[in-house]
Amino acid sequence: MPGDADIVLVDGKVFTAARDRPWAKALAVRGDRLLAVGTSAQAERWRGRRTTLVDLRGGVVLPGFIDAHTHMADSAGEVGWTRLDGTRDLEDAVVRLRKKAASTPPGGWIVGIDWDEAKWPERRFLTREDLDRVSTEHAVVARRIDCHMGSLNSTALERAADLAGMRGFEVDASGRPTGLLTEDAFGEFHLRFETGGAGIERGLPAVARMAHRLGITSIHDVVSRAGWTAYQRLRRTGQFRVRVYAMPGDSMLGALVDAGLSPGFGNPWLRLGAIKVFADGSLGAYTAALGAPYVGRPDDRGMLVHSPTELRSILTTAHRAGFQTATHAIGDAAIRLVVETLEEVQDSAPQKSARHRIEHYELPDDEVLRRTKAAGIVASCQPNFVGQWSGPGDVYEMRLGGRRSAANNPFRRILRARIPLCFGSDGMPYGPLFGIHWAVNGFFEDQRLSPEEAIRAATAGGAYAAFEEHEKGSLESGKLADFVVLQGDPFETPDQIAQMRIESTWIGGDRVYAIPSRS
Ligand SMILES: [Zn+2]
Repeated sequence: MPGDADIVLVDGKVFTAARDRPWAKALAVRGDRLLAVGTSAQAERWRGRRTTLVDLRGGVVLPGFIDAHTHMADSAGEVGWTRLDGTRDLEDAVVRLRKKAASTPPGGWIVGIDWDEAKWPERRFLTREDLDRVSTEHAVVARRIDCHMGSLNSTALERAADLAGMRGFEVDASGRPTGLLTEDAFGEFHLRFETGGAGIERGLPAVARMAHRLGITSIHDVVSRAGWTAYQRLRRTGQFRVRVYAMPGDSMLGALVDAGLSPGFGNPWLRLGAIKVFADGSLGAYTAALGAPYVGRPDDRGMLVHSPTELRSILTTAHRAGFQTATHAIGDAAIRLVVETLEEVQDSAPQKSARHRIEHYELPDDEVLRRTKAAGIVASCQPNFVGQWSGPGDVYEMRLGGRRSAANNPFRRILRARIPLCFGSDGMPYGPLFGIHWAVNGFFEDQRLSPEEAIRAATAGGAYAAFEEHEKGSLESGKLADFVVLQGDPFETPDQIAQMRIESTWIGGDRVYAIPSRS
């Protein structure tokens, strides 16, 4: 034998996600790589005197999950903010914020995050008046779960006075600010209360522990400059042991090109990835760009973040500099525009495989699916959104009506069109098993995949979307030893995937998480 394995894991049910040999029973690991994937006898051949033997006792092993759309650096900066997800009703949210105000010195910020009116009986956005009832001695801001909208109390509104007139600064018929800010205005205002680099650095180790507990071994994280800096510093000290494919916003593109940085720069722990671009907003905030109006708003089809000319210019600059792009597009009109623009951009400067991505890709029609495939574009989707908002009376139906809503997130049609598909959570909430559950058990026929297909999108799909398929995403000898052991079997009881837990998470051959034992 050329050398012993560090660890041999035997007698499991291993789904490798590899095309040719999807099933195995055992793994042998040396250093950070897989030495062998096969039968227990094949793995045991690598067993030497110093090898640790792990009996999987039939447990299911999957490749480590790759969450292909996250905001973990941003999440790390949210320490001290008040979470409003899970509130029973609007009043419950007001009460939670009031409690926070009681322990915050006057003049300070009270920041609430992740409210979702679709989960409240009131079914309406938080208003300035609601938040004035929290406090007028504090600046109170409450961010909607989609991050595309925030509500401000009168004190916070004073701190936003200079933003009046900016797109997304809402006023009523008499011209009085309502306290609702969306898109540009909210984005600008966000910079005034967010934590910054030091806060992100402090919060990231806890975020890594959360990722390990959920079986996430790699992320594609949308980063600001502060987030990118924080990841670099923590990498040096080894405090964030999750592999990061960092996706900087398009505002950083010029600087990256000037610095001569190339996509893929970095190492298996931290890599410079796609350039993140916004085409439209969100359905919740009525800012996703639709071909036909929103239900109940006959003149409102949402909005485009950039004019088509501007969008083409951004995508052209990135493409010509050799960067992959990842463009947020939710509404059918936005998706169509991005596909058309990428066709043009690629025709003008052909490259072998740019693998441009569309993030969310929630409402593609058949023609768009065909053109997406032809242009080599990757669909980066969020199956957890199905569980969160695709049910009867929920956001998709309220904004789109029954017929259009039934076509949301058509994962099955995406795969049938042979479009590369990867799954991410967008942090709403984090947890790949929750997403996989809803990709298997969706509300509509076209949303449903087999457990194998859904797991592939959450593993191999993410590796392909980051040009890392030779390193990870499937369990094959020579690849990184990133894998998870599950409690439960998604192939036997697919209707219970959301309730399953991670037994252990392994990154680069190290066990970074083990479920606490019950005894
Ligand atoms: Zn996002």
